[in-house]
Amino acid sequence: MTTSYHKKPRPPAYRMFTMQQVAEASELQAGYCLACGNMRDCCEPDAREYECEECHELQVYGAEELIIMGRVQ
Ligand SMILES: [Zn+2]
Repeated sequence: MTTSYHKKPRPPAYRMFTMQQVAEASELQAGYCLACGNMRDCCEPDAREYECEECHELQVYGAEELIIMGRVQ
């Protein structure tokens, strides 16, 4: 019996970020995409649902928002 194997990894439902990543984003005025993890510039710390330049999902959040949402390990 064979199962088809897809190489493309599915993003985890709950992507987490480290304190270091969030501190860096805060310093750079950047945010992170919850869908693919890409960092996006020009994000206020309280940015919500910005468009990701990488995957074009509206899932980019600013550093403070990530902390409020409990996405920091
Ligand atoms: Zn993305």
